[in-house]
Amino acid sequence: MEKTLVLIKPDAIQRGLVGEITQRFEKKGLKLVGMKMMRLDDALLREHYSHIADKPFFPGISNFMQSSPVIALCWEGVEVVEAVRILCGITKAREADAGSIRGDLAMSVQSNVVHASDSSENAREEVKRFFNPEDLFHYDKDEYIHVYADDERS
Ligand code: ADP
Repeated sequence: MEKTLVLIKPDAIQRGLVGEITQRFEKKGLKLVGMKMMRLDDALLREHYSHIADKPFFPGISNFMQSSPVIALCWEGVEVVEAVRILCGITKAREADAGSIRGDLAMSVQSNVVHASDSSENAREEVKRFFNPEDLFHYDKDEYIHVYADDERS
């Protein structure tokens, strides 16, 4: 099954939203296969945000993302990259759909509580960037028989 990367950003750590955010993904029926608290250094951030590294707001994002540790989560599921992007909502949190994580929990463009991989290809790279193979777990999730139809699970 597909995997995706989520980062719980420093604003969410400071605001005590780790449990709430993690629960949104759990309740959706996703499988948590990796979880890691870490500080991000300049090199990792420059690689992770290479698509916006030349933007004037990049130094601000870099400071923000290093202002406290973040929590990296790896979630697994059928078409999970798209499902997680929908759960997170759009970048500008104050305009994100009500019901989404950003729509319900944030107001800012920069401080928008979560990062989520935006394509299957980027998800593969991002999971590798944040997790060593031994940090990811393989196990049976019993509730899958209730989360998916048989043909979706195979
Ligand atoms: P997303 O995280 O929704 O995929 P992007 O990849 O475009 O969005 O941007 C990465 C992160 O950079 C955003 O989540 C946000 O924290 C920050 N960011 C994006 N655009 C801006 C902006 N115009 N001003 C400040 N921060 C921004």
